[in-house]
This record gives sequence, structure tokens and C-alpha cells, in this order.
Amino acid sequence: MSSAEGGELLRAPVFHTPANPFLQERALECHWDGGLLIRAGRVAASGDYAAVRAAHPEAESRDWRGGFLLPGFVDTHIHFPQVHVIGHLGRSLLDWLQECALPEEARMADEAYARRVACAFVRAVARHGTTTALAFGAHFAEATAALFETAAGAGLRLISGLVLSDRGLRPELHQTPNAAYEAATELIGRFHKRGRLLYAVTPRFAVSTSEAMLEVCQTLVREHEGLRLQTHLNENPDEIAEVKRRFPWAVDYLAVYERFGLCGPRMVMAHDVHPTDSELGRLAAEGTSVAHCPCSNGALGSGIFPLRRHVQAGVRCALGTDVGGGTGFGILKEALQAYLLQRVAAPPFVLGPAHLLYLATRAGAEALGLGGETGDFQPGKAADFVYLRPPAESPLAGVLARAETPESALAALFTMAGPESVAEVRVEGAAIYRAAA
Ligand SMILES: [Zn+2]
Repeated sequence: MSSAEGGELLRAPVFHTPANPFLQERALECHWDGGLLIRAGRVAASGDYAAVRAAHPEAESRDWRGGFLLPGFVDTHIHFPQVHVIGHLGRSLLDWLQECALPEEARMADEAYARRVACAFVRAVARHGTTTALAFGAHFAEATAALFETAAGAGLRLISGLVLSDRGLRPELHQTPNAAYEAATELIGRFHKRGRLLYAVTPRFAVSTSEAMLEVCQTLVREHEGLRLQTHLNENPDEIAEVKRRFPWAVDYLAVYERFGLCGPRMVMAHDVHPTDSELGRLAAEGTSVAHCPCSNGALGSGIFPLRRHVQAGVRCALGTDVGGGTGFGILKEALQAYLLQRVAAPPFVLGPAHLLYLATRAGAEALGLGGETGDFQPGKAADFVYLRPPAESPLAGVLARAETPESALAALFTMAGPESVAEVRVEGAAIYRAAA
């Protein structure tokens, strides 16, 4: 896109959170008549349009007023094989897994089917404004490879890995630890650090992994530089009781992962709806991140995420959609659901638009160890962004036309914008999604 050497200067309101609003006042940066200058796939400048224009008169300017520029969304927890099982309501985690998710996950043994699901998955992710995703692959190596290849073809920034389990699911989803080690090693060699791809060691959860499998995870993390890790933690009381039964030596759920060195920066635990104070303190001390998935928490009745306790303990939290336990691909919707559930938590924790934008963007980049690369519009970062432009005549367009402050416009976007408002999505300056004109 940015063919001109002087770069491409996009003129529209610009929002980003170069700082953490949970720690710092005025973390939100808004430029109502804003400019975002992209050169060679990077952010060259961002700020007030007039200032950027004056400093870069050679840039090719595009008038994108009528829409809004936000950093691309970061989804820190999503399952690629579950695209087609969204929407089974009324169950709790363990029943939902057995009845809805795992039968579909078993179908990923069919590579051609998996490839079609991967296409649907990548398209849906991009179409909702997400530019970076940490995604569970499949329990099958070729299906996981299909996801990596599809994401690379589309330009999505993807971190994923083969899902590892050797008990407690369905026999066809179990691998031996040796086979898991070999298959994961092969996938790491093929995809880790290839373009925008990174590999994440992916034990499904402690319930479905033996100590030998967790040792495999530990070995993989030690043998390869820069791997991420993703798994589940403290989602549901029945799950927690099952972990206690299977690992009687562990003082709590987190201790299972700690024993195998699976905690620390670049490691992401999904959910953590029911943590002990000790676990929160250890997550913070280790630098482990939590993927908060409020739509899933509501849909599966897992509970109201104790966000305030996480923030007070100093645990890094970001957002995940948890498709298919969650309700869809929209990080905007996820942020709104976080707001709604915290609003009715006891005591309430009232989030503002700066918190929502941070959770949807920069917090995710930080959780994934990509804080220097994406998540906001500081110069030098990748030009990963979503351009939101509500349809003309839509209720949201009407609300935005009356917005008196940038903050109120941003709050309205989080409240009302869905995929119909996503006009263009770019990663490193290149479009990965563009709405039909
Ligand atoms: Zn999950």
C-alpha cells in the first residue's frame, strides 16, 4: 500500500494507549484530527494531523475522516478448531468440552477439513480487527500446520502450537509424550520465527496432561529460544477439583505448572476466574500473564473474573475471545463484556474507555512479549491497525456524530461497534482485511 517513499499519511481520529491506564493517569492518547504516518510497514509518526503533515510534507495523504484509527486488536486466547461450535449455551466447562468441543476437535484429524476451518478462522479473526492472535492449534500436527500456513498466507500475526494431551479427553486426541515431543519439535522447526509466526507450547490443561507430558513441555521451552506457552488455569470449580485429584502433591492449580517451569514472561494462562491470593502473588512475581475471556466466562457460567484482585496483585491481564466457549471473534465485544461484568461485580470495578482500549491492544502485546513490536502507535512499531468506520445512517454513526469528547466516542465504539464497522485491517502496513466498498 505505502508505495510512495515519503510514506502514507492517514487522516482520522487516532486513539492508542502508550501507557497502562491501570497504573497511570492519562494513559490514553487521542488525536481528534489525527494523523498516522506509515512508512515501510512501520509507524513513522502519529499525532495531530497538522503537525505530522508539517513535519512530513512529502507523505501521501489520505482523508479517512468519518472513521477511527485504533491499534490492531490482540486476542490472547482462542481455539482454532472450535470455529463451528460457537453458541452451545447452557453448559458448564467440562460438559461443554465433552459434548460440544472435543467431538469437533477430533474432526481435525481430517487435514482437508482442518484446512477449511483454518481458512474460516483466519478470515473471521482478521475481519473483526484482530491483527495478533495467540491461538490453540489442533491435537493433530498437520491441522496445526494448516493453521500456520493459512495465517502466513493472509498476513496475520499468529502464535500457535500443537495442543498436547495424553489423558482425560477422547482417545483419538491423546498423543504419547514421545510422539508429542517429536511432532512439536518438527512444527517449531517449520514455523517458529518464520515471518510473523511464533510457536507456543500448548498443554491443553493440567486435567489432560500427565507429568511426563508436562516434562515434554518443559523440555521444549528449554530447547528453543523465544517460544511462548499457553494453557488454561482456574476456569471452573469442577476443573480445579479434578486437578487437585490428579496432582495430589500440588498445593494449588498453578503449582502444577510451576513444578515444570511453565510460568514466566511470555506464558499466558487463560481464565484464572478462581485464583487464590497466593496464586495471584506468584503469577505477578513470575511475570506470567492471564488471558481474560469474559464472554466465555459468562456463557459457560465460569464466574465473574476478579480483575481488581489481579490488578492489585500486579498480574498482567489481556483479553481473549476463547472461541468456541466464547461467543465470537470480536475483541470489541469482549472488552464491552469485561466492562459489563466488572460493572456488576461485588464491589463494582468501573472501567473506562482507556482501560478497554489498553486491554484490547497493548496489554495483549505485552502479554505475548510483543510490546516492542505492536499494540500502540509509537514510532518504530509495526503499522498494525484497525480502521473503524460505522455504516452511514447506523445508530452508532448517529451517536458518534454527537460525541462531545474523544473519550465518549471511544466508549461508544466499544459499546456499539461490531464487524460491520470494521472497514480495513492492516498488519505491518499491509491490508489483511478490507470491507467491500
Ligand atoms: Zn480456552
